[in-house]
Amino acid sequence: MRPARALINLPALRHNYQLARQLCADKALAVVKADAYGHGAVACAQALHDLADGYAVACLEEALQLRAAGITLPILLLEGFFAADELEQIVEHNLWCVVHADWQLDAIERQSLARPLTVWLKMDSGMHRVGFFPGEYRAVWQRLQACENVAAVVLMTHFARADELQSSATREQYQLFSAATAGMQNLISVGNSPALLAWPEIRSDWSRPGIILYGSQPVAMANPGVGEFQPVMTLQSKIIAVRELPAGEAVGYGAQFIAQQPVRVGIVAIGYADGYPRHAPTGTPVAVDGQLSQLLGRVSMDMLAVDLTGLVEAGVGSTVELWGSTVSIDQVAACAGTISYELLCNVKRVRYEYLPV
Ligand SMILES: *Cc1c(COP(=O)(O)O)cnc(C)c1O
Repeated sequence: MRPARALINLPALRHNYQLARQLCADKALAVVKADAYGHGAVACAQALHDLADGYAVACLEEALQLRAAGITLPILLLEGFFAADELEQIVEHNLWCVVHADWQLDAIERQSLARPLTVWLKMDSGMHRVGFFPGEYRAVWQRLQACENVAAVVLMTHFARADELQSSATREQYQLFSAATAGMQNLISVGNSPALLAWPEIRSDWSRPGIILYGSQPVAMANPGVGEFQPVMTLQSKIIAVRELPAGEAVGYGAQFIAQQPVRVGIVAIGYADGYPRHAPTGTPVAVDGQLSQLLGRVSMDMLAVDLTGLVEAGVGSTVELWGSTVSIDQVAACAGTISYELLCNVKRVRYEYLPV
């Protein structure tokens, strides 16, 4: 069997959720959209069932998958519904629903629903993707408060630059949000992972941590004393061939790596079809049987090459970690010019194995 595997450490996920909760000091929706950032939404939601205050997903389809697996905690749809005919199922399955656009508001007012909805009213305080502008927010809020189909309204916004410590943008977004919601008694929700890590003074009733649950840190923690997030996914495979090459020989497509001196090369059974980034260059860290080494040459679809020079014990059958507890996914992402989120979401074809709680 092909040895490429994603090992998912569910105890680490629980540890990270508890740490995230400590950072936000209030309730936290575990964001498990996009199949829990590539970790398996059902397994991750089940692993948190006795800890989490609720979950957040991108759409009805993702929520129904969790409900079908027996998840009964609250689930928030982060973009609400994409067509009005989803409302019936949203009510039936007791889902919380973001409202970000006029047409959604109209639909909620017009339809007759079996039960009133909990609505999370989104403000566009600067991200400029979706939501109501601060100047129109109060009028929309009033319509929802007056609507028979609405049981409760939570006030929410989303930060665009919370990972930029030198920028005042996050504070400005929060001030805009606070000013536009002044006097409203509803619960509020701000705070993705970078906000929880870097802006601990910004509090809300419901935070929405995603990436930190999976053990990646997009920005340094303002209070490092709190503890450490643990990587949840280890992506690994094995060496299936070894080459001893003299100086001057090249490795892989396009001869992107040319040996300057004799080199011992290990060929690993994993590639970009498994989600390992093709843009990772020579020098990107890997670990061979726990020892740090580096990628050599271009990543292929099913294989890649690593440096075994000096790793005398390593050979065919050695385990290679592409990311996990030895090789930080944030480092791999930086080398490949992307972010950990994209790497995690892209993992596919590999065998998933879960370390149970
Ligand atoms: C995805 C998402 C989050 C989680 O973001 P992280 O950076 O992974 O913590 C929070 N809120 C909203 C609205 C999102 O879409």
